[in-house]
Amino acid sequence: MKPSQFFKRSELTATLWLFRREFVLVGAFSLLANVLMLSPTLYMLQVYDRVLASQSELTLLAMSLLTLCLFAVMALAEWLRSRVLVGAGLRLDERLGTLIFNASFEAQLSPADPAGLAGQNPARAFSDLLQIRQFLTGSGTLAFFDAPWTPIYMALLFFLHPWLGLLGLLFALIQAGQAWFGHQRSLAPSEAAAEAWAEAGSFLQDKLRNAEVLEAMGMIGKLQLRWGQRHHTALARAAVAQHLTHSITAVSKFIRYSQQSLVLGAGALLVIDGQLSPGGMIAANLLMSRALAPVEQIVGGWRQFIGMRAAFARLEQLLLRHLPRDPAFKRVPPTGSLSLQQVGAHASKRPTPILQNINLQVRAGTVTVILGPSGSGKSTLARVLVGIWPEMTGAVLLDGLPIEGWNRLELGPHIGYLPQDVALLEGSIAENIARFGTVDPVQVIAAAQGAGLHEMILRFPKGYDTPIGEAGRLLSGGQRQRIGLARAIYGDPKLIVLDEPNANLDELGEAALFKTVEGLKAQGKTVFLITHRPAAVAVADRILILNNGQIQTEGPRDAVLAALRAVRQAGLKPVPTPDLVELTA
Ligand code: ATP
Repeated sequence: MKPSQFFKRSELTATLWLFRREFVLVGAFSLLANVLMLSPTLYMLQVYDRVLASQSELTLLAMSLLTLCLFAVMALAEWLRSRVLVGAGLRLDERLGTLIFNASFEAQLSPADPAGLAGQNPARAFSDLLQIRQFLTGSGTLAFFDAPWTPIYMALLFFLHPWLGLLGLLFALIQAGQAWFGHQRSLAPSEAAAEAWAEAGSFLQDKLRNAEVLEAMGMIGKLQLRWGQRHHTALARAAVAQHLTHSITAVSKFIRYSQQSLVLGAGALLVIDGQLSPGGMIAANLLMSRALAPVEQIVGGWRQFIGMRAAFARLEQLLLRHLPRDPAFKRVPPTGSLSLQQVGAHASKRPTPILQNINLQVRAGTVTVILGPSGSGKSTLARVLVGIWPEMTGAVLLDGLPIEGWNRLELGPHIGYLPQDVALLEGSIAENIARFGTVDPVQVIAAAQGAGLHEMILRFPKGYDTPIGEAGRLLSGGQRQRIGLARAIYGDPKLIVLDEPNANLDELGEAALFKTVEGLKAQGKTVFLITHRPAAVAVADRILILNNGQIQTEGPRDAVLAALRAVRQAGLKPVPTPDLVELTA
């Protein structure tokens, strides 16, 4: 195994390994508790066989006091091991929380991730962590620590009488067999039920997000029907799974009750035969329940164990594929020169590529206006440019280095990206502009002024501290877009990609935007401006026209415009967008 592989594998296991001292401690406390668990049996034996025979009250008193002390130590050992486990669980969560948070966000942008759902949904990754923590700190782990005592208690049963030992062994086997059978039978129905619930839940959540549209157009009734079908499927599957679980529980209760009485009965038979003392009979009963308790716990917690194992595998995969970056590794900040070589963009369910054969060289300090008809791939190209399109071929080089090689936390401040849907987050205007980092008022105001937003913000009752409401619901479309623009130019980004920043702007707003872009260019920043409005070419150094996922024309502005005019005059090839027709007329 290569050393790098070793470190890779150990990302999650290494964190668990850090808790070895705690596990040793838990093992030691379990040892103590289990040894002391013999004290009630010994007490019983002594009371029946010695005290009752000798009628000595003093012996009874001494024995009782001693047993009470042992009980206290046993309770203390059990309490301590639970405390150690709970503490370890909390620290495990603390250590892994940040890693999982970062990894799951990275995974969200990687559909090809085989980490399954954990890779796709940050909340799932955390529920996986919760599942592992709950198992490690719950009765499941304790049962594993107690399990090695089962053979010892069994041996003691054999020592009392071979028949009792055999009976114990038989019940342990029956319990394990019944659990295995139950697990096999109930696994598929439970999974089907969980899947159906998840589907009904996500259907509802998805529709709730668009509640306004549904209400406005009276679509709720029809959607309720569709949700109802999913809900009923989930209910029916859950009922099947529950019936099975209840039947399995009933059988296991029958086995447990039979076991308790049969052992007593077998003991009584041996006492009648003179092969066992009455004390031995009671002790056998206690020993049997001690011996079978971990078996019962393991059997009861088996499903949790399987779930935990699957959660562990998912998290391990997730962390393996999205290794934490070395915080000490720092790159020189980029200047903003960008090169695309044979870039293609794909989507898993789409047979044809969204973008193909994209070759582009852009020097730092250039403004490139990207034009093209709807669906030609402009927004996809924007994502490729900032390095967030997951299924990409070819190379996107920022200052000569592959953009995907950057640590996103380190690269983020050098990038300004305004997506089409803006995507503001719950928080104040200042926090949104400052990208939820430490709010630097001077820079926030500079960015707001750059986006032509400062005066507008000052008119809000709380100014920059105005909460924007979830996803900017309290703002108008134009205001949202300007805040998104301010966020994109906040700080000192070197590469700025604006996807239709003027879609919701009036003429005044658009003029302010173009002034901002010119200001950015003067500062040597690389700007890509995607738009449907031909007026934007006024600020362009270069123009790129996309058509059907390919570059139709790309080059210096005047050369491209001249070429388009020539094409048009010659009536050779149609210009793809009406805007360009207007522009080259
Ligand atoms: P518009 O001007 O309308 O915003 P656009 O030029 O920005 O369009 P894109 O959003 O890049 O176009 O989409 C280009 C094509 O890729 C479209 O046909 C779209 O359906 C497809 N597409 C975009 N994203 C995905 C995706 N995640 N999965 C599959 N297909 C996608």
